[in-house]
Amino acid sequence: MISVEQAREAVFARIERLEAVEVDILESLGRVLAEDISSDIDISPFDNSAMDGFAVHVADLEGASEESPVVLKVIEHVAAGMFPQLPLEPGQATRIMTGAPVPQGAEAVVMIERTESLEADGGAGGTVAIKTTAKPGENIRKRGEDVRTGDVVLSAGEVVTGAAVGLMAAMGHERVSVYRRPRVAIVATGDELVAIGEYPGPGKIRNSNSYSLAAQVIAAGAEPHILPVARDNEPDTRAILTRASEFDLMITTGGVSMGDFDVVRDVLTDIGKLDFWKVAMRPGAPQTYGTIDGTPFFGLPGNPTSTMVGFELFVRPAIRKMMGFEALDRPRVQAVLAHDVKKKSDRRYFLRGRLVKTDDGYSASLAGGQSSAMLTSMHRANCLVSVPEGMSFAPKGSIVTCIRLDIEEGVQ
Ligand code: AMP
Ligand code: MG
Repeated sequence: MISVEQAREAVFARIERLEAVEVDILESLGRVLAEDISSDIDISPFDNSAMDGFAVHVADLEGASEESPVVLKVIEHVAAGMFPQLPLEPGQATRIMTGAPVPQGAEAVVMIERTESLEADGGAGGTVAIKTTAKPGENIRKRGEDVRTGDVVLSAGEVVTGAAVGLMAAMGHERVSVYRRPRVAIVATGDELVAIGEYPGPGKIRNSNSYSLAAQVIAAGAEPHILPVARDNEPDTRAILTRASEFDLMITTGGVSMGDFDVVRDVLTDIGKLDFWKVAMRPGAPQTYGTIDGTPFFGLPGNPTSTMVGFELFVRPAIRKMMGFEALDRPRVQAVLAHDVKKKSDRRYFLRGRLVKTDDGYSASLAGGQSSAMLTSMHRANCLVSVPEGMSFAPKGSIVTCIRLDIEEGVQ
């Protein structure tokens, strides 16, 4: 048996970042940029108004107040998308809308709420009473205040946020280069498995692992391909496992324990290369890893929660490495254990837990039954409580490390 860390090192040693592909900017959301993105314009592209109001000269409003407004002549109306025709002279105001270019000579914009148009329509040629003073530059967004022409605004390696998609649009980029999503083959194994639509007969169970895994693959940003179930015999398993090279990664579930019909490991050893097959952890010690025709291969255990925990610890970070992410793991937090936990001391336990915020940190309680066949507690869990090897008992009140399942990545 090797440790979780040794297993992860062995995995990462073989996993390479995939190549970049060009995609529509919306497709790039949440993915890693493979190129620097610069701007062909200043943003804002011109000085413009941050408010609906009146563009003014500051000196005209000296001493202006609610009680003694200053009256200015309105020379023009400028809406967003228009361009002012008249320069603003002292004693004049230009009615201006948010986003409209400020006229030449204007020093500030006074918000409409602090003014009163003296003609019914407030039209050009009329007058406006301004009830406040103004500071130079007030309510004017300066050209280039966010981005300057030629600036590298987004760099290769950054994760595309919603704001980055907006920036790319503003900077004229319709398509962008990001790292490719891995195509992940998912293979359930077992003579007992029936399809979702079937009512399981005696001794049979529905294949749930293909779907929980596909869901995890999607959540990790990759592309799941559910292959037919491999029955518990060598020819069938071999036929499906040889398809590994059609994909960037292959995951199987089941067939890696010590049972008479657990043939996955034999087939892997025969057609590929086995790196390790047992990790000192619970749930799911028989985590198998290797390659088939150079394609990374994960033989996860069959019990539904062991499968999902194995995915979290080994496959998800591998997928993220392929997609170019720097942060491969979910955030971890320290929490106070809310129960006594008994365990085997030679294994690290990953308990399905629920983290709650307390006055001075976090408390972690168990999310339900911990049998590896149970999925309901995995559904309820928002963390995996890690209790290290070397301990056979973790008393209530001890400090434990929890892997947060409710957050993709973040400040550790
Ligand atoms: P195995 O590792 O093949 O011995 O499987 C361990 C346990 O997980 C057995 O109880 C299996 O019935 C169960 N199991 C295996 N594959 C699946 C699957 N695809 N969906 C749900 N349960 C499974
Ligand atoms: Mg089996």
